[in-house]
Amino acid sequence: MVRRPTEAGYEAAPNIALVKYWGVRDEDLGLPYNSSLSVTLNHLRSRTWVQFDPTLTEDRFLLGRDEQTDGPLRSVVEFLDEVRALGRFETHAFVRSENNFQTASGLASSASGFAALAGAASLAAGLKLSPPALSRLARLGSGSACRSLFGGFVEWRAGTRADGRDCFARPLFPARHWPGLVDLVALVKDAPTKPIRSAVAMQRTVATSPLYAQRLREVPRRIRAMKRAIAVRDAPALFDRTMEECDSFRSVCESTEPTLDYLVPASRRVLAEVRAANEENGTSVAGYTHDAGAHIHVFTTTTHSARLRRRLGAVPGVEKVLVLSPGPGGRPLRRWGR
Ligand code: ADP
Repeated sequence: MVRRPTEAGYEAAPNIALVKYWGVRDEDLGLPYNSSLSVTLNHLRSRTWVQFDPTLTEDRFLLGRDEQTDGPLRSVVEFLDEVRALGRFETHAFVRSENNFQTASGLASSASGFAALAGAASLAAGLKLSPPALSRLARLGSGSACRSLFGGFVEWRAGTRADGRDCFARPLFPARHWPGLVDLVALVKDAPTKPIRSAVAMQRTVATSPLYAQRLREVPRRIRAMKRAIAVRDAPALFDRTMEECDSFRSVCESTEPTLDYLVPASRRVLAEVRAANEENGTSVAGYTHDAGAHIHVFTTTTHSARLRRRLGAVPGVEKVLVLSPGPGGRPLRRWGR
């Protein structure tokens, strides 16, 4: 029992996977079949404040101005139960959070949201967690949240243990490692909301896609190649591997029964535009990727970003192009909103 109100705040940013997390070997613990690699982004963020308060009779969750019920509240309550089990207390909490970008639109608010919640709730509970332990905790809220705690380039090792103790993310290179790397996010008009939750969709892929086993065999080699490309800042190699991985992810989704098609025609036009730009330049000046959503992330370098941004902005069906870069990891907040 926490006897007096204790509170803490934390902020974290979304990440975009260059090697995707898709398919779990243990649904309760969220243990993936394959390791994944991501870039934590700047500018976008979730800020979360948690107050454990003995006068509350149930948990409350305010996202923006809206008191949450149903699914979003349930996920937060289940997550707080994990924190309470770790801290051996039962006190309910008031959780306030704000995303400075659109929630549930395919920009990974679940990753930044649960990373921020893990940071705030563990601090408010007085748990002194190591970075791996905090990452394991965040993973229980949303798989990719375990990567959003760290800045720059991050690897989430799948691990092999049944209890998941070796399944957490760790930073590979900080954001400043590659100052010229840019992520142009082409936001498409009328992006549909996800027809089914990713946690359910990915298990359908595992059960039905004839390409999934082959993908699992290829991923370790791709991660090694990507790490080498990032280490020496080899942009064309990184872009080629990123597109190859994205195409592999899309094929396992499309070959799932029933099929998973996350793109809209504008998304496909963006992919074609990137391929055309690479062809015209005789080398890869950009690499596309997308998650289980219709928006497309296009990695490029500062040399090409202004021209490419104009080009992507002119693609029919593209509403806006965000200019992002690798960004910092999660951090505690001293006061609400600061
Ligand atoms: P996205 O692409 O934005 O991750 P999802 O549909 O996968 O879209 O996840 C959105 C869900 O993540 C929300 O419905 C909510 O349950 C949860 N979520 C988003 N932001 C937060 C937050 N700041 N704190 C806690 N949970 C959040």
